[in-house]
Amino acid sequence: MPPSPAIVILGASALATARRLQGLYPQAAIHGLRERVAGVEQPYDDFGATLRGLYRAGTPIIALCAAGIVIRSLAPLLAEKGAEPAVLAVAEDGSAVVPLLGGLSGVNVLAREIAARLAVAPAITTSGELRFGTCVLNPPPGYVLADLEQGKRLVSDLLGGESLHIDGAAPWLEAANLPLDAQASRCIRISPQRAEQGGALLIHPRLVLARCIALDGDLPGTVRAALQQAGLAEAALAALLVDAAAMAQPQLTAAAAELGVPLRFIDTATTLPAAVHAQAGVSLHLAASPEAAAHTGRPRGRLSVIGLGPGCADLMAPAVRQALDQAEDVLGYETYVTMAGPFRAEQVLHASDNREELQRAAHAFELAAQGRRVVMVSSGDPGVFAMAAAVLEALEASSEAAWQAVELEVLPGISAALATAAKAGAPLGHDFCMLSLSDNLKPWAMIEKRLDHAAAADLAMAFYNPISRARPWQLSRALDIVRQHRMPETLVVLGRDIGRPAEALRVLTLGELTPELVDMRTLVIIGSSQTRRFPRAGGGEWVYTPRWYPQD
Ligand code: SAH
Repeated sequence: MPPSPAIVILGASALATARRLQGLYPQAAIHGLRERVAGVEQPYDDFGATLRGLYRAGTPIIALCAAGIVIRSLAPLLAEKGAEPAVLAVAEDGSAVVPLLGGLSGVNVLAREIAARLAVAPAITTSGELRFGTCVLNPPPGYVLADLEQGKRLVSDLLGGESLHIDGAAPWLEAANLPLDAQASRCIRISPQRAEQGGALLIHPRLVLARCIALDGDLPGTVRAALQQAGLAEAALAALLVDAAAMAQPQLTAAAAELGVPLRFIDTATTLPAAVHAQAGVSLHLAASPEAAAHTGRPRGRLSVIGLGPGCADLMAPAVRQALDQAEDVLGYETYVTMAGPFRAEQVLHASDNREELQRAAHAFELAAQGRRVVMVSSGDPGVFAMAAAVLEALEASSEAAWQAVELEVLPGISAALATAAKAGAPLGHDFCMLSLSDNLKPWAMIEKRLDHAAAADLAMAFYNPISRARPWQLSRALDIVRQHRMPETLVVLGRDIGRPAEALRVLTLGELTPELVDMRTLVIIGSSQTRRFPRAGGGEWVYTPRWYPQD
């Protein structure tokens, strides 16, 4: 699945066109210049830096502005030869679509799609495409061009007047306007066979299924040797097939990753095409089409327990974004699931407002055990007073073999304490601890004891879940304990809705802190005896805890 594009705009005048394009790519976030557009998913401050960041991350870019600005912004990166994402400039009123970069990443395909949506003609300039209506060098998923240089030669021969014939099934070329001639010397051959000398331009359909029987030793080496023996191209390999009982074996994942193909699991119910080659440890099977190959067996289910960070998309780890893009099912507390969007229509959202974390974890495992890609959403970091521990608790208590076989991963996020600290400066710059003041799952006496020790040890402290309607008195009791060890001048930082539209940061002293200033969307940082502040140039102040400690 190609990554979803980013739609970048400079001003509010481009917003209407941007939203129309979002109708075409529901997962594409709109990036808007913060001072000129409100209400977009991804506000940014620096156009050039934003564009370069997206480009480096391989994200397709649809920029609703002058082509020149885009070119100038990306120019420093263009010398770096390598995979490049599709980059298009679209007139902000939707009247022109100009593919700029990424010919091999499908920029012209995007240009045609966008132009069709906007009812204009795309400014396609690639001669091969213009002439033949398709990019011969960019076959669809399930097919791989064997040799790019050879491909470029063929296209230039065709432009020079040569004709060609097609040997094998290439459904996407049927609609193309190619100069076909059964007698032609030039040839595109669609075949899983390895290249022979000086022959046709080879496009390999991914048809080959390698069923692995022996799972130890050098699995990729065994598969490569079998392909070699059978005269098949490695690029034609579609998947490694393994018995479902071996699902959780780590070397299988590594072998599949090395060969660049998915792992698929089979059982007695799976029907395989007859073997075209068999040797010790592995047999090779040819599927009827790339689609049939891709659907043989089932994938290993995956459960990704992810942290969104504090709320804004630019503080979300790329690995988390990717897990969300790939998710088939998304579970979590409703507010966080909404924050993780937008989603595609086929992604199933299981937003809940209940606080039954173990039930939610069990549901996630049940879905993943069916082979689905499941994402469990937390805010901040999933391991900080959030879902990761609940998921592990459910797994440890379960005797379901299918749950154990799920590929479980925890992807970190920026926790509220770190996001708040960064806004204020570095109040957690020296030793600190994180405490949840919620006594839902731990006795209040334990919280008091920890507060007492942490305060006595002069640790800076970050309080999560500081107060709620159900827990009205706990915060003032906690502050009483802290005040036994800290002076009223001790600095306090309150971060509310950090990274979200209503973000508010406040610096005050322990003496000034009252529970009324705090709610359940607030993260409270209590400084140590060493935490200090000084004025910031632009107003407000910096707060930090020095790296050193006075020696006594
Ligand atoms: N896993 C989350 C914490 C969940 S506990 C994380 O790592 O951040 C919920 C508490 O976190 C809230 O009561 C509040 O104290 C704090 N919190 C979460 N998001 C916040 C944000 N954006 N701004 C300020 N505090 C936040």
